[in-house]
Amino acid sequence: MKEKILKLKAEVLDEVAESFKRVDEVAEFNTQKVLDAMRELKVSDAHFKTSTGYAYGDIGREKLEELYAKIFKAESALVRTQFVSGTHALATVLFGILRPNDEMISLTGAPYDTMQTVISNGKGSLKEFGVIYREIDLTQTENYFDEIKNSITPKTKLALIQKSRGYSTRKTLTIDDIEKICAAVKAVNPNCVIFVDNCYGEFVERREPIEAGADIIAGSLIKNIGGGLAPTGGYIVGKKDLVELASYRLTAPGMGGELGASLGTPRLLYQGLFLAPHVTAQALKGAIFAAGIFSRLGYKVFPATKDLRGDIIQAVELNCAEKLIAFCQAIQKFSPVDSYAVPEAWEMPGYEDKVIMAAGTFVQGASIELSADGPLREPYAVYLQGGLTFEHAQIAILAAAENLVNA
Ligand SMILES: *Cc1c(COP(=O)(O)O)cnc(C)c1O
Repeated sequence: MKEKILKLKAEVLDEVAESFKRVDEVAEFNTQKVLDAMRELKVSDAHFKTSTGYAYGDIGREKLEELYAKIFKAESALVRTQFVSGTHALATVLFGILRPNDEMISLTGAPYDTMQTVISNGKGSLKEFGVIYREIDLTQTENYFDEIKNSITPKTKLALIQKSRGYSTRKTLTIDDIEKICAAVKAVNPNCVIFVDNCYGEFVERREPIEAGADIIAGSLIKNIGGGLAPTGGYIVGKKDLVELASYRLTAPGMGGELGASLGTPRLLYQGLFLAPHVTAQALKGAIFAAGIFSRLGYKVFPATKDLRGDIIQAVELNCAEKLIAFCQAIQKFSPVDSYAVPEAWEMPGYEDKVIMAAGTFVQGASIELSADGPLREPYAVYLQGGLTFEHAQIAILAAAENLVNA
């Protein structure tokens, strides 16, 4: 058994050498981008001091937001630990911009599970406030970009694009895809706000969605951009007027981004941002390695081993609940934290089906750390992501492979 796995590992490492080289090149490019921004904006020790109370004029908070804006090539940014999660940051954008009778459309099908509650299924959802919602899922169709033109009207206030696949096996969008979608939308309605859910997408490519024509984007700090160090939080970057509207929803109308204490977090957010291009590369290597291993074991993997990637997620279709559970239990067992815990499927708030999650992480639920999860529904796909170091990802992935072979 052991020998078979070691042979598999060697074969896959050989197969992925070219892909790993591409990942390293992107990491170097993005490290340069972050470093240049930090040098230009003169980040210093003074910016790491904590603030309390209302925190008016917090220079650490202001500098960090300038830094995010610069890195994302945006006019303005909100980077806050007051966002409890990525969903919260995304919801803040939607509630900040949309008004009763406004029409929004999702151009990438049903959004991430927790966003469905925000938009239409939940108490206090946008729908309850009279926002009109439609979705189209044409990412699989050949003339996707033409179809988009037909679905946008002069009345469409906001178009949502989710870069990552989320809990589906649709294709993850690349920045080039996003650029084409933005052009198609703006050709029909130049005033339509294009909002990209950028979760898991940061630093995977050389460009970010604002550079491809998006007006505003949001994501979580406990994914790629926090570099594994951010303890919590979310970010929004984009056009100044739009970020301002979101800021009134984060705090209160009139207050916006002028307040918000950092409570001891600044150095972790700066240092995490500095590490983020490298950590993202580690996670990407884990994903590519997993694709290589599980495709050789006969499972369908999305993306395929050598595909161009737009996010850090690797989906593996396991086709059976027991295998999904066995996979997640192996990942948990080979985690640095809570390795003795045995994950089980449960009704998680905000999710439609039962979900099983393996996350033995230093920051609770941080999915830039090695984690695996999946909803208990056909095709029993497991979504693997993260890994602060490729070495760790490799150990745990091989353990999961062994578990599947034995199951
Ligand atoms: C992670 C994620 C979110 C937000 O999830 P949180 O758990 O609230 O941070 C939204 N959309 C996508 C595509 C995601 O991957």
